[in-house]
Amino acid sequence: MISSLNPLAQRLLDWFAVNGRDLPWRVKNKAHDDPYAVWISEIMLQQTTVKTVRDYFIRWMKRFPNLKTLAAADLQDVLLMWQGLGYYTRAKKIHECARLVMSQYNGQFPKTREELLKLPGIGPYTASSICCFAYNAPETVVDGNVIRVIARLYGLTHAINHDEIYKLAQKLTPIAYGADYASAIMDLGATVCTPTAPDCLLCPWRTTCVACQKGLTDQIPLIQKPKKQEKSGFVYLITDTNGRYYIRKRTEKGLLSGLYEFPWHYDTQTPFQIPWIPDKTNVSHTFTHFKLTLGIRRAASDTVMFTNGLFVHPNDFDKYPFSTLMKKVMKYLSPRQGS
Ligand code: SF4
Repeated sequence: MISSLNPLAQRLLDWFAVNGRDLPWRVKNKAHDDPYAVWISEIMLQQTTVKTVRDYFIRWMKRFPNLKTLAAADLQDVLLMWQGLGYYTRAKKIHECARLVMSQYNGQFPKTREELLKLPGIGPYTASSICCFAYNAPETVVDGNVIRVIARLYGLTHAINHDEIYKLAQKLTPIAYGADYASAIMDLGATVCTPTAPDCLLCPWRTTCVACQKGLTDQIPLIQKPKKQEKSGFVYLITDTNGRYYIRKRTEKGLLSGLYEFPWHYDTQTPFQIPWIPDKTNVSHTFTHFKLTLGIRRAASDTVMFTNGLFVHPNDFDKYPFSTLMKKVMKYLSPRQGS
């Protein structure tokens, strides 16, 4: 048993010692000795599940095992390793940050939160996570799992207020065992205090938890999510006589920047003036702030007026980074029967 801690932290750490998950980016009972691995995993885990990140992280660390290899890589290779994770600006910032740490910090990650915050793509949450997991600092790290656990522990029936959760979580955070404690509270949320049907009988905090004691777990946390905007448009599958498809690279700024795509436009924009063949297929994808549905249109290459792209055979698509949206479109390279 770990001693000299507040009772709740102690119970949680004892639970974690037995039940904590083994994750490829995690080291138990001490800080991780590689802030690079912590940083990569933390950026990948933002708004992506542990299940999805696990394979991406392992592949990434094989391809870019350290800052030096990442800094030396082409951005296109970085985007290729990132494709499917979404939020491509993050991959570009990772690349930019690796180059900056190599050139200005002698290849060593800064050790303080203040210095980390000066790096591209590292905000308060990531800076705290790196300090916590790589340097064992007593930082309070609040993700979706922690919000749920804290809101239930204190029986917060009102709409979630991030500052309030942070202050309550901070009071519980022990001075020692920073990495294990942060991992423990996240694991509790991910494996026991789950969004629906939390398994309170297995929880080390059940005798203290207000939501559990009062039967409020299905009402907490109260999260008010803004309704996602719906957008629509059309994507064009343009083929030449060699079975190749027209793709183009997006600009370096804005949504899905730097990735390749089949030409598309929103239906609020001027449509491309090319003769197209009807198709009843639609492809949808949900971005952070909106849902996009694209109708598929097909066209022959001799009608194409675009000049900034190239024709590529589907067998060679894996050489180009595409977004998840475009990968969904790829499933419909051949027309559906009846279209
Ligand atoms: S007792 Fe239940 S509701 Fe409370 S923190 Fe534990 S799992 Fe969550």
